[in-house]
Amino acid sequence: MSSNLQNLYRQVIMDHYKNPRNKGLIADAGYQDVHLKNPTCGDDVTISVKASGDVIDDIRHEGVGCAICCSSASVMSEVLVDKTFAEALHITDSFYEIVKGEDIADDLDEDDMGDAIVYAGVSQFPARIKCATIAWKAFEEAVAEVRKARD
Ligand code: ZN
Repeated sequence: MSSNLQNLYRQVIMDHYKNPRNKGLIADAGYQDVHLKNPTCGDDVTISVKASGDVIDDIRHEGVGCAICCSSASVMSEVLVDKTFAEALHITDSFYEIVKGEDIADDLDEDDMGDAIVYAGVSQFPARIKCATIAWKAFEEAVAEVRKARD
């Protein structure tokens, strides 16, 4: 990876860290919250998902943690909103591949991934992969809870 690209990636991460999108939970029974912690780093994140039918209407996040964790929650909230459950979970799986240094899934492109592609750099720091993925894991659990509540 070129150093210019690494700089760009770092700028995107710091922008989401300093100006998080969709931060703050909303007290509304329509939201499903999932709280996860990463004790090795101190990351502590709550993801809150609202869906109507099969479509994700809103994703909120709250918590404290390192720049990678907090920025990733912000990025995730932008990338996955307005997607169907199936689309969002597929993008999430692709994100897990990206942070391990793998390619985007064949049927997705960089537009689908949005700012999430910048976490490709995390693959060089395996200890930080958990920081990058914790918000996405919480999102997955929240979707599972929403689906379970409907059964
Ligand atoms: Zn962290």
